[in-house]
Amino acid sequence: MKRFVVFFGAPGSGKGTQAQQLGHEFGLRQISTGDLVRSEIKHHSDVGNKVKPYLMEGRLVPDDLITEIFKKNITPELLSSGFIADGFPRTVSQAKVFDSFFDEEQRKFQRIFYLDVDFNTLLDRILGRRTCPNCHKIYHIQSSPPKKEGHCDECGEILVQRVDDTREMLSVRYKTFLDWMDAMVGHFGPRLIRVDGTKESSEVYNTIKSNFLK
Ligand code: AMP
Repeated sequence: MKRFVVFFGAPGSGKGTQAQQLGHEFGLRQISTGDLVRSEIKHHSDVGNKVKPYLMEGRLVPDDLITEIFKKNITPELLSSGFIADGFPRTVSQAKVFDSFFDEEQRKFQRIFYLDVDFNTLLDRILGRRTCPNCHKIYHIQSSPPKKEGHCDECGEILVQRVDDTREMLSVRYKTFLDWMDAMVGHFGPRLIRVDGTKESSEVYNTIKSNFLK
């Protein structure tokens, strides 16, 4: 089903988990700028070397670089079939780039979700989060552990804890999120669909799905 979905929210708010589930159910490609950044870093590309310090310090990658990475991955096919953007846009300048892809008619297919989660819940999720470096599936050691401890259910790869998933880094990343939140809420206005992201994952998903289908 054609939709241009955005997941906006603090680190640990569930953007990746919900994006993966929605993408899987409706056959939409998920574009996670965080995963793209990590992949560029892993491959030591020019842009990867430039963005590495930002990720390591929990800061946002400058708009021009992240926009370049995002645009490179948005093909004409995705613009006609739809896609899910997980973690982009995060600033008003990025939001303007995102909007520039769509005319009035196409905007009807946009669904911009804001996953609202308090800091203590984020902290619990971030400290327990484990991710698959190969297929990017996300786990939590308590609430959604893999079947075989430390290994991805999908591809068997050894799960890792992200370098920026620490208490200290979360504080920095959360502050960055708050710095932009009001401006982003202002930019998207009534287009933004606020979802209580503290609820059970399946309940959050059902709320998202019903808005997605509208
Ligand atoms: P994430 O996996 O979404 O938490 O992103 C990990 C890191 O990648 C962030 O802390 C930023 O350094 C960078 N990043 C991802 N998406 C963006 C974005 N839209 N704007 C700026 N930096 C980003």
